[in-house]
This record gives sequence, C-alpha cells and structure tokens, in this order.
Amino acid sequence: MDGRPYFISVEEARAICNATPLQTTVEHLPLEACTGRVLAEDLASKVDDPPFDNSAMDGFACTFDSEATYPLTLNIVGLQAATGENEAHTVAAGEAVRIMTGAPMPPGADAILPIERCEVDGQQVRLLEPPKPHFVRKMGENLRSGTIALSKGQHLTPSRVGLCATMGYDTLPVYTRLNVGIVSTGDELKSPGQPLKHGEIYESNSFGLAGLVEWAGHRPVRFSSVADSMDALRQTLDEAANTCDLILTSGGVSMGEFDYVRRLMEEEGDIHFWRMKIRPGSPPLFGLWNDTPLFGLPGNPVSSHVVFRMLVAPYLRHSLSTDAPKEWKIRAKLCDAVKSTNDCVTLRRVTLVSTDEGMMAYQPRHQGSGNLESLASADGLTLLQPGQSGEVGSWIDVLVL
Ligand code: AMP
Ligand code: MG
Repeated sequence: MDGRPYFISVEEARAICNATPLQTTVEHLPLEACTGRVLAEDLASKVDDPPFDNSAMDGFACTFDSEATYPLTLNIVGLQAATGENEAHTVAAGEAVRIMTGAPMPPGADAILPIERCEVDGQQVRLLEPPKPHFVRKMGENLRSGTIALSKGQHLTPSRVGLCATMGYDTLPVYTRLNVGIVSTGDELKSPGQPLKHGEIYESNSFGLAGLVEWAGHRPVRFSSVADSMDALRQTLDEAANTCDLILTSGGVSMGEFDYVRRLMEEEGDIHFWRMKIRPGSPPLFGLWNDTPLFGLPGNPVSSHVVFRMLVAPYLRHSLSTDAPKEWKIRAKLCDAVKSTNDCVTLRRVTLVSTDEGMMAYQPRHQGSGNLESLASADGLTLLQPGQSGEVGSWIDVLVL
C-alpha cells in the first residue's frame, strides 16, 4: 500500500476523511421547502413570542383582587376575540370581559378565569373561584426579539420550521443538498425486472445506498452498474466526478482478481486509506478521483450499508457541521451470544424489544454480509468494541437503524 494508511480504526478512518471535507454552498428557500434541511446560519427571532399579552383560556378577563371573596359577581363590559380588530375594552374594578384563547388582554385586566368555572347570567358573570394570573401568556415569555433560538447546523425538523415562522421568517438559509453519485460495479449484476442467467444476481446496492443518501439529506445520482473493466470504470468515474460532489462505488475493493475500483484508484486516483477495522465491512477505501472525494464501499449489501452508517454519514455530517440525521446509540442487553473480534468493531444485526428491565437485543438470524434480509428485519447494529465480550447477558451499545 505504499505507506498509505491500511486497516485502520474507525476513528482514524473518520479523521482521514474529515481532513478532506466536502465543499458546501448555501441557498435561500421558502419556509415550506425547508423541512429536513440543515440551517446554514444562526437565527435570531424577529419578534417577541408571544408578541403581546394574551389569554391562554376561553373565559373571563378581570383584575385580580386579593381581598375579594368568591363566588364573586362582575359586570360583563365586552367581548375580546382573538383578533386585533375588536374595540379595546378597559376593565375596571367590578368588571369582566369575555375573552377567547389567544386574544389580547384588555387594558386593566391581569387574570383569567376559564369559562368552565364561570356562570353567566345576562350581563353578569359569577366567578366560582379566583381568576388566575398564570392563564395570561406574557409578551416575550417564550422568546425575546433578538434571541438566537436556532443555530447553524441544526436539522430543520417540522417543529423547528414552525418556530421559524413564529419568529417571522418566510425564507431560510440552508445548505444546498449535495449530489452523491452511486456507481455499482460487477459483471454479475442485473437490474431488477430482467431475467437472471446462471451466475447473475440482482443489483441492490445502488437502491439501498440511494435511500441512505436521501436519509442523510442529500441527492442520490444513480449510474448504471459498471462491468468489471478498467476502461468502463474510468469512464463512469470521470462522468461522476464531473457531475457530483461525492462518489460512492460499491464492489471491487477487496483482494479479488477483478477488484478494479481498488486497482484504478491505486494506479490513477489518490487513495487516502484502504481497509478499516469493522466487521462486516472491512474493505472500504477513501480517496480522490479527479479531486472528487470517493468512498469505495464493499460489494456485499450488508457491508455497504454498515459502512455508509459508520463512515459516509459521519463524513456528510462533518462537512455540513451538523448532527443530522441524529444517530441514536442505546444500551441493550444481549439475549443471544454475538461473536466479537479482538481487532474490529463488530456490527451484528439485532432486533430490539423494550422491557421493564430495559432494551433487549436478539440476534435471530444468520449474519452473512450478503444477507440483506437480516438487515431489513433488524432494528439495530451492535457496537461491540475490539475485544469486548458479546456473551449473553452483557449490556452493550447498539446503533439504532
Ligand atoms: P465484490 O466486493 O465486488 O467482490 O462483491 C462482493 C459481493 O457483493 C459479491 O457477492 C457481489 O456479487 C456482491 N455485490 C457486489 N455489488 C453488488 C450490488 N450492487 N448489489 C448486490 N450485490 C452486490
Ligand atoms: Mg465485484
């Protein structure tokens, strides 16, 4: 490997990738197009939230009187709906205004009694108990104008997009989605829908990887799968490098005779490392093809998925300085033995069951790295560190899928 890092830890591999981050650009989008995107600037509220004192309840607004005894009868002097277009009713001692949720507090009033605790009789209302100041939502109590409520790098979840509207934003600066080229390699690959000849299999990695790219918040660009030939591969990688920000290949990175991704990258590309200490998924490489970052992912479908989660997703997050999409690591008790190794992080597929004792992890299926069904039916991946025991009863970290 000419002194290039070889068979390194996950942490070392991530650090090497992060040293060549992807270039990002910022675009301004209307709010309705922002869910799922990553905020590119800190956002300060343009207004106080709420913008004025208002009622949290349907009921009556009046002045709190600590001397009064209840039930207390007051004169109804007006109605305040949740629109600014009412005439403002000033409330004096002995008076009350019928008020709706969200309506501005009438001048002079500082407490609300919900309608359920009031008895209305013509132009009078009997308050069965004291009105409550805490049913008044005070101007700015949620957020003061100028306060930074969302920061650069945050994922725009539905509630955050709603908050942006509350703060007065109709467009947002977000990072442009990156174009991620996906190139599968292998003479044996056929597109689903076509008849299979002996020795052929359906190409699945490009579909799974495209889904992962979308999950990560970016745009997948699928290329037709490439035969095991240096020329065909070179041509597709050139095209991908011209049109994409990042290239993912699958297959052809192991020690096999026809592992041309590795050979081409060695001879004509720029490899930053090859092979990483995880199982499954040890063959990946990272480097540049025509200055475009490239991950050579393993061909086995489970391995390519695992390596995306362990290496490509963290790299994308690092490039956008975001923690989105959030990875959840939980503690779970192993209910089946998992074979760990001394030098690799072991990522076995487990199903999870929540119990009173905590989360239980089961490994019900055969764990071949070609067995995509075992991944499709799993809830998580064990994060067994090198040398860590995977015996029944041990509590371990699990990456939620
Ligand atoms: P390779 O790394 O090219 O030796 O591939 C390892 C294994 O993964 C082989 O059994 C391949 O047939 C399989 N494989 C490679 N690419 C794909 C793909 N795109 N979809 C499904 N299986 C694949
Ligand atoms: Mg192959």
